[in-house]
Amino acid sequence: MYHTSVAASRQLAFHAQLSSVAPAFCNALISAFEARGGPCSIAVSGSRDSPGDISQLLPVPVVAVYVDAFEVLAGPVWTGAGGTCPVCLDSWLAMNSPHDDARGSTPGDAAVSAVVEIVEVAEREHRGDVAYSLSMPDGRVQQHPVLSRRDCQRCGTHRTAMPPLLP
Ligand SMILES: [Zn+2]
Repeated sequence: MYHTSVAASRQLAFHAQLSSVAPAFCNALISAFEARGGPCSIAVSGSRDSPGDISQLLPVPVVAVYVDAFEVLAGPVWTGAGGTCPVCLDSWLAMNSPHDDARGSTPGDAAVSAVVEIVEVAEREHRGDVAYSLSMPDGRVQQHPVLSRRDCQRCGTHRTAMPPLLP
């Protein structure tokens, strides 16, 4: 289902659908990251429900990336402990889709440098609970707090048991 590739200093993985509809984009990304190096593995998907899932295949620290023709979003840096986990990232992405009209749109050449730029922002800031997006039409960078699902066994902050039901 997923396609992985090893660049010089880090591993990349792509959602299989993205690899099949945009092979040139994926290859250009591999070359770009090969040329620059960096501390994190990178998982890339064109579907909002899967970048976190793919990122779990890769060594930590890892950054999950969602990309379409209009926007790139680099998720929180996941180190395996602390911060918002990859499963919660996918839930958050699915619930926060401001560009539903862009769903399924294929990233083009312009998205390559956008992905590199926003991944480097995420790596530099190294936040476990913040994602960064870059809007390709206007170059605007925004940060987004990515909240854990309260009941997540891995990263949720509200793990206390529910109070017993009253008789
Ligand atoms: Zn979680």
